[in-house]
Amino acid sequence: MKGRMSDIETEIPTVIIGGGVAGASAAIVLAREGREVVLLEKEPQPSHKVCGEFLSPETIPMLGDLGVDPRALGGVPIQRVRLVSRFGRACADLTPAGTGLSRFALDRALLDVARGHGAEIRRGCTVRGYGPDVHGYRVETTDGDVSASRVILASGKHELPGIKVRGGVGRDAIGFKMHWDPGAAAMERLGSDVLMVLYRGGYAGLCAVEGGRLNLCLIAHKEHFRRCGGSFAGLLEWLTRRRPVLGEILGHARMLWERPVTVSNIPYGYVYSEALCGGRCDGEYHVGDQFGVVPSLAGTGMAIALVTGCAAARGILNGRGSHDVHRSVREDLEPTIRFMHRIHRLCGNPVLAEIAVAGLRAAPGLLKRLVAASRVAAPAGGAP
Ligand SMILES: Cc1cc2nc3c(=O)[nH]c(=O)nc-3n(C[C@H](O)[C@H](O)[C@H](O)COP(=O)(O)OP(=O)(O)OC[C@H]3O[C@@H](n4cnc5c(N)ncnc54)[C@H](O)[C@@H]3O)c2cc1C
Repeated sequence: MKGRMSDIETEIPTVIIGGGVAGASAAIVLAREGREVVLLEKEPQPSHKVCGEFLSPETIPMLGDLGVDPRALGGVPIQRVRLVSRFGRACADLTPAGTGLSRFALDRALLDVARGHGAEIRRGCTVRGYGPDVHGYRVETTDGDVSASRVILASGKHELPGIKVRGGVGRDAIGFKMHWDPGAAAMERLGSDVLMVLYRGGYAGLCAVEGGRLNLCLIAHKEHFRRCGGSFAGLLEWLTRRRPVLGEILGHARMLWERPVTVSNIPYGYVYSEALCGGRCDGEYHVGDQFGVVPSLAGTGMAIALVTGCAAARGILNGRGSHDVHRSVREDLEPTIRFMHRIHRLCGNPVLAEIAVAGLRAAPGLLKRLVAASRVAAPAGGAP
């Protein structure tokens, strides 16, 4: 029975740390089967997150299975990928189409569904520490300590206090996101494309999202950011000058926020392995970016979050330990994450990126195959 023992809340069967795509999807799958689940989310309100907000085609049925229809939330169909480097340009149709939808809308909708199925969502509750105890796991939070039989770690790309498992994965990328009011001219120039712009040490993604907005999301190498004056405005000025296609669109648009949302130290290429934490704890399920951080240009981070979140929840429903669940998702996902990490590094080299874009342009169909290779399959048996 659940209750409070001194300052520790005891015997919660499953605690989920983090209410992004991965944590919320796990909460839905468990709660709709009648399982008791408590989700801890540090943000007191729905918030904007650094993300390209491009939902890849395979996520749409996965979300549908969870009870969320991105188009009903105002999501915008994205029918083409347009890749632009300094000298080159290549395009590929997306069939089926992807969807542009803000994380503000998506994460909120997923958590609403989880709550509707009976999951307890504790907002404004930050996890400060974590580790095994006699009951299973003890989670230290700003609202007191919680003891859980098992834990789903869904806190995103950064390490939680008490978990140091990431080793030397590169952390030199810094990310920004800004929403824009585009006006008709900018919308017309972008069309239903997701525009990917490559530049030295980074790339930018631009696509339409709900509410007639544009989302610009970009990453830059920290050193390059410093060379651009260490400000978003400086980086943007450099970028629109060097890649006029962006200037032509954003020149007609207006920033909707005073400053961008930012993230730093992005551990691209990270894949969780039990070996990294000494193989302890068979009730600790790593999902979403806590499982693996696929480079952003793949546009599949949210698909991985859905697949891993649902796989952990299904594993719990079927009595599978976390080592077993991690083994099967690793087999499915690690090749994609590693492959996209190689592409990400190639794009960081201006000469190789230029050769690659020229090749993609010369061989129509190759970009489509590359896009297909970045996709993530829903587990056998249909959507997660
Ligand atoms: C620049 C950039 C662009 C991207 N573009 C795309 C894209 O276009 N398409 C795509 O599919 N993917 C994209 N991604 C990847 C995608 O954003 C992530 O893979 C996805 O958000 C992972 O979901 P998650 O639920 O694991 O983590 P998150 O969405 O980060 O959610 C983690 C949650 O945990 C909470 N949390 C963190 N710490 C604590 C704590 N201590 N206590 C309590 N709560 C906590 C956070 O507040 C957050 O709500 C992009 C990533 C980056 C960096």
